[in-house]
Amino acid sequence: MDYAVKFRPTPHLPVAESNEVFPVGRIYCVGRNYAEHAREMGHDPEREPPFFFMKPADAIVPNGATIPFPQATNDLHHEIEMVVAIGKDGADIPAEKALDHVFGYGVGLDMTRRDLQGEAKKMGRPWEMGKAFDNSAPCTALKTAAMAGHPAKGAIWLKVNGAVKQKGDLSEMIWNVPEMISYLSRLITLRAGDLIMSGTPAGVGPVKAGDRLEGHVDGVGELTVTYAK
Ligand code: MN
Repeated sequence: MDYAVKFRPTPHLPVAESNEVFPVGRIYCVGRNYAEHAREMGHDPEREPPFFFMKPADAIVPNGATIPFPQATNDLHHEIEMVVAIGKDGADIPAEKALDHVFGYGVGLDMTRRDLQGEAKKMGRPWEMGKAFDNSAPCTALKTAAMAGHPAKGAIWLKVNGAVKQKGDLSEMIWNVPEMISYLSRLITLRAGDLIMSGTPAGVGPVKAGDRLEGHVDGVGELTVTYAK
């Protein structure tokens, strides 16, 4: 088969301690999944059903990269998140079976053009231009569930230029990993290769050109990216 335009290889993430890579299909993100973050964004963290938005697979940025500062924003924000990598297709997955569909875990950033997202919210428009832009999904290599287990508690934090900005614990998620997989699989068929960004703890804030971001999730990994000057 001849492609009519230049072929773009499937985005992928390294698998820790392996020569294999994980091909990234779709990236789903859970909104407002930590109560303190919901509050800081002006929402009542009542246990409403989870909601989801997406980023394109080619928004993935490898660990250690220097990222060009994105266009069209004066208010780029960091959101540190645990990333869940799906290893097995499924629809209508019960929560009790959800972890069977997990390949592994990574540490990611849901980079957000907060000004564009805010405008979209105000006007009742989609969030894509605030969330789904170039290089908006830095992520570490994935640790398999065999290596990392299924982390349900442990620290998640983000530093900007060495100063702690976000700090939380995975146990504070409003919808835990099995529940979010179960919910999402009732809306779409999850496919092997999909990623789920599981939400961010409180402390989101601005990122400037030249900033160095270091993120951590206990037992999962460390992510470091730098924004070009
Ligand atoms: Mn997020």
